[in-house]
Amino acid sequence: MEITKSCSNCGGVIFNLNQKPGEYEAVCSECGTIVANIKLEKYETVKKYCSNCNSARFKARVKRYKDTENWTVECAECKTQPEFKYVDSELNEIDEKTRENLILKDTITELNLRISELESELERLAYRVSAKDETFDILS
Ligand SMILES: [Zn+2]
Ligand SMILES: [Zn+2]
Repeated sequence: MEITKSCSNCGGVIFNLNQKPGEYEAVCSECGTIVANIKLEKYETVKKYCSNCNSARFKARVKRYKDTENWTVECAECKTQPEFKYVDSELNEIDEKTRENLILKDTITELNLRISELESELERLAYRVSAKDETFDILS
């Protein structure tokens, strides 16, 4: 079942869209409450203004699956769904190639972090092994 989403604070049904890298927030246009945080792909966000009529007023319909809500956002005036765009972490618009490079850089950073975690794990293991050897020396 699909329902029209309303603000949990004031019951308003018109939202403004607040851009964030990789997600966006639906903010109640009446009282400013952040009603939802909608996850997108990495370095993707939504355009704040309707690409058809330039309105910043959006409505949302929500379908519920168990614990998750599936949002459909559309312009309150002309029912066009907001367009997406790619942005860097400072919300500057970027092209697809730049986005790919950023994702690659993040992957490398994550891998390096994982490698240094493994290295310190190995050091801990090596220390435990050598500590055991010393115990044997004492006993023998
Ligand atoms: Zn509200
Ligand atoms: Zn519109």
